[in-house]
Amino acid sequence: IDENTSSHVNKGSISTTDWDQDTLAIPRLQIVDEDQKFTTDLPNYLSKWNLGDAGFKYNVVAVFGSQSTGKSTLLNGLFGTSFDVMDENQRSQTTKGIWMSRGRGMHVLVMDVEGTDGRERGEDQDFERKSALFSMATSEVIILNLWEHQVGLYQGANMGLLKTVFEVNLQLFQTQKRDHVGSTPLANLAKTLQSDLEKIWAGLSKPEGLEDCKIHDYFDFMYTGLPHKVLLPEKFNEEVANLRKRFNDPQNADFVFKPEYHKRIPADGYHIYASGIWDKVLTNKDLDLPTQQELLAQYRCDEISNAAFEIFTKKIAPFKQPILEKAQVIDALGPEMLEIRQEAVASFDKNASRYHQGVYQKKKDEMLAKLNTQLHVLFVGQLKNLHKKAIAMFDENLKAELKKPNYNFAIAVEGCLKTATDYFMAGAKAILLPETDWSFTSETTTLEEEFSEVASKARADEFKKMTKALTKQVENELSEPITLALNNPGPNPWHRILQTYSKTVENGQKTLSNIAQSFNSSDTEVQDSITDLKLQAWIVLRKKVDEELADTMLLLKLRSRFEEKFRYDDHGLPRVWKPEDDIDTFFKRAKDDTLTLIPLFSKISLKDDPDFKLASNEDFDFDQSLVILSEAKQIDISNRFKRESDAFYLEAKRSVVSTTAK
Ligand code: GDP
Ligand code: MG
Repeated sequence: IDENTSSHVNKGSISTTDWDQDTLAIPRLQIVDEDQKFTTDLPNYLSKWNLGDAGFKYNVVAVFGSQSTGKSTLLNGLFGTSFDVMDENQRSQTTKGIWMSRGRGMHVLVMDVEGTDGRERGEDQDFERKSALFSMATSEVIILNLWEHQVGLYQGANMGLLKTVFEVNLQLFQTQKRDHVGSTPLANLAKTLQSDLEKIWAGLSKPEGLEDCKIHDYFDFMYTGLPHKVLLPEKFNEEVANLRKRFNDPQNADFVFKPEYHKRIPADGYHIYASGIWDKVLTNKDLDLPTQQELLAQYRCDEISNAAFEIFTKKIAPFKQPILEKAQVIDALGPEMLEIRQEAVASFDKNASRYHQGVYQKKKDEMLAKLNTQLHVLFVGQLKNLHKKAIAMFDENLKAELKKPNYNFAIAVEGCLKTATDYFMAGAKAILLPETDWSFTSETTTLEEEFSEVASKARADEFKKMTKALTKQVENELSEPITLALNNPGPNPWHRILQTYSKTVENGQKTLSNIAQSFNSSDTEVQDSITDLKLQAWIVLRKKVDEELADTMLLLKLRSRFEEKFRYDDHGLPRVWKPEDDIDTFFKRAKDDTLTLIPLFSKISLKDDPDFKLASNEDFDFDQSLVILSEAKQIDISNRFKRESDAFYLEAKRSVVSTTAK
């Protein structure tokens, strides 16, 4: 309450405040301009005012009152601001709109409203109502500036304004009644004023259901009187300084910024909130503040989340190429991902947690999901690379093991399998982040399948190598004895050959049982291998026999047998035919003897080995495999042999003639 009633006012501002030594003016900002447009500059100014990062540690105060009652003057005095003050001499109008600045030395945003003097004319009640709505929705404390002579003038301009304020308040805060805080002992003026206020309140048409509500359900009041500014300037300044304590000293009993008045809008969201409110005020939409706060929370949480996400994206970028393109396994990926994620969440939390809790939690969950989606790409990539590496590791290690002497294949495989599986599992576990639904079970299953594929291929290869070696062993063991037996057949070369065969198979079985042990083979596998060995050895035998008894070889054998009988005597000396020798008989005997070889060679005889038998199957007929030379072949060979032997006969005859002729 300004007791100044004089219309004669000196130009100038209050100058005894403690901050005036600080000559730097605090910049002010027109947040709503003459065209009722809301500024875009508020974030800049908030940081200029050092309130950008203030969180909840700031307060907002606005002023109401008729025009030219000294509102701006009072604010400048109280808060050290530099709002425009009307120049009395020039009667020039201050710039219309809503202005904002920061209180000097305090975390307080100060709002000054400049309207016109037009209440009586009714021309600007619209802006007045709008600015009232806006101030109520955005400030914690409202200063009402009245002149003493206006108090009690119930119909006066002030009262119209107050009516507006109260109506606007009911419109905004129907559901947010304040706890009643007892009023301070009042001066008479204050009493009058209080009763005026109550009268106005009583006269308001109230929303349904709130007909009986009291003014104190919504407002706490405090009063102060200021001495005449012009007549008692020093006293005025003193009282202003006293009044200031209510705004900047939390220890003061009359400190106005009670925590419960705070709008709970973090400083970094104030701009969005305030501009959103102004937008609603302008378009005359319902100003539902809780909804406004939720909208603000959504908007700001998104902004904060996007900013955190951008940093996050930059941080994970260096991992992408090595993992996704170069198939590298990054050792510390798990802890690195966790740290980057924690950083992002923490940076989100720092600013977003101040906003509407429901919205904040929802946005936090969304953000975490988004981060996890990004990280999951790296997780999957690394799993794949671990998988590849594990397979390669298994393969390499197994190869190395199989180069060692006396390895046991089954044990080697088991060892390599364990190493590679352990490697994969440890690597996979290390990148499994908490608060995700990630898993690597399917990758593990695939890996196991691939391991068993690689292992069985290695087994097959190794087995092939072994059996090849066995076949070689069989060939070596069979080859010479067969040649010998067929070159010196005696009465039954087949008996000796079959004995050799049995011995070879016996040796082969020993080798096989070593292999079986190394491969951890099953009994059936062993039985099958033995059956196979017998058959393979028989096939080797038959091949060798066929080679030995191929046409030219067979003829050679026949000829040498014949020569032995015909051209050499019983002492192994070459015969010199004499005329009295019975060449014909010698010849016939040698020829007949030689020809007995043909039936002997033509079939493998089991006469000394009656129990010898191999199991036949669809590809192999044992009895048939005994036959070496067909009937036709036998006839052909004996004919060819006869022709050859005839030549020997003639030669023998001629040699006698020539010896006789000498
Ligand atoms: P506003 O329109 O309410 O912001 O009023 P201003 O602060 O611009 O003041 C309007 C005029 O009144 C200016 O010329 C001030 O110097 C003068 N003024 C401010 N406070 C007082 C006061 O307490 N008493 C008197 N007599 N004049 C004042
Ligand atoms: Mg002003």
